[in-house]
Amino acid sequence: MLLSKLFIPITKDLPSEAKIKSHQLMLRTGMIRQSSAGIYSWLPLGFKVMKKIETIVREEQNNIGAQEMLMPTIQSADIWKESGRYDDYGEEMLRISDRQKREMLYGPTNEEQITDIFRSSVKSYKLLPQIFYHIQWKFRDELRPRFGVMRCREFYMKDAYSFDLSEDAAVLSYNKMFYAYLKTFQRLGLKSIPMKAETGPIGGDLSHEFIILADTGESKIFADKRIFEVPINDYKDIDASLKKMRSDFSKFYAVTDDKFKSEDFDKNVEKNNQIQTKGIEVGHIFYFGDKYSKPMNCSVDAKDGKKVFVKMGSYGIGVSRLVAAIIEAKYIDEKMKWPKAVAPFDVVIIPAINKNDNSNLEKARKIYEELKGKNLDVLLDDVEENISNKFKKHDLLGIPYQIIIGSKTTKDKLEFKEIDKNSEMMELGKIIKLLKK
Ligand code: ATP
Ligand code: MG
Repeated sequence: MLLSKLFIPITKDLPSEAKIKSHQLMLRTGMIRQSSAGIYSWLPLGFKVMKKIETIVREEQNNIGAQEMLMPTIQSADIWKESGRYDDYGEEMLRISDRQKREMLYGPTNEEQITDIFRSSVKSYKLLPQIFYHIQWKFRDELRPRFGVMRCREFYMKDAYSFDLSEDAAVLSYNKMFYAYLKTFQRLGLKSIPMKAETGPIGGDLSHEFIILADTGESKIFADKRIFEVPINDYKDIDASLKKMRSDFSKFYAVTDDKFKSEDFDKNVEKNNQIQTKGIEVGHIFYFGDKYSKPMNCSVDAKDGKKVFVKMGSYGIGVSRLVAAIIEAKYIDEKMKWPKAVAPFDVVIIPAINKNDNSNLEKARKIYEELKGKNLDVLLDDVEENISNKFKKHDLLGIPYQIIIGSKTTKDKLEFKEIDKNSEMMELGKIIKLLKK
């Protein structure tokens, strides 16, 4: 892509509500544009990053055997009346009526919808267990939308739902998802910590929020710092090893403020291991048994012929929130550095362009074609602009690698720079190898 052609409409005057770095940066680099309170358009640069995140989320869901589908954004109120949540959900739900005056809603989540699909087509225990997921827009009429896409009204979420015959089997599904979440956030370049969360009237300890540390986070967290060192081993489809992984994490105290009690904290964690800080919730997994299957009459025939209400769990990841969360976690001073896996481009070529001399730009174009031929996603900064302005701009854009074509360039070596490190002179072949790694 040529920078001169890339649509990055920069918002010059930052709105006063853009208080945190990620919100400011996303506006300054033209990633998003607000269309109304808490509702955003995703412009090419922001959309590209979000799609890369989505791909990683999808791969890790598929890896544990979850099946992708797509449910609609608009749902009928009837199924929500069956579960009893139509009244309970309150004003966060956007209610709509169609031309026949039928009550509809823009889905804030999909437990009812998936339960309805499941009950109408699965009758036997033989089809269990199942995990389904979709990646779809959600709408929640948040009282105070804020921090850009971090807490907005329309947002993009991966939500998965598991169906099992018994509670023991449901725990296995839960453990798989627990693992998939750790792996997903690791691949996104993030350190996520599973924190025990409120389970409400269902009880038990099967609810975790996945939090990444950031000063601007809205979740207060209290943890034993040793939880940060727990390794994430590779999944080999062995239930026991997944159980062990969850128990390895469970050994260390880690809760958000709604579950926090200072007596518990002091009892379970030595003073020098205690940390109290803030974080961003990027995912939430939850086991809720027959909370929906019972009122919605979703049962299967067990081996002995008895009807059993299926045991369900739901598992969300805020895909659009993650774009902002990654920025919050990675931004230092005036510099952004995207993790390689989700960077909008693999590398940017920055030629020093002089009005009377096109040779650097010519060289840059040749390298650009060569890198594209190697299937690298390259940006060429072909804009005629002072080189120090260019560097400032690329500090903001945060593309992890730069090839600088200027006075240092020799016949066979180019200036190559990882964004937060010193540059090195390198042959193109070596650069390509490094980028391909
Ligand atoms: P929160 O406590 O932040 O309101 P929640 O508990 O309501 O989150 P879930 O219903 O578990 O969230 O949704 C799953 C994920 O969707 C969350 O972990 C978060 O990443 C994302 N999410 C939830 N609400 C929003 C929102 N208003 N804007 C952007 N992302 C959101
Ligand atoms: Mg919420």
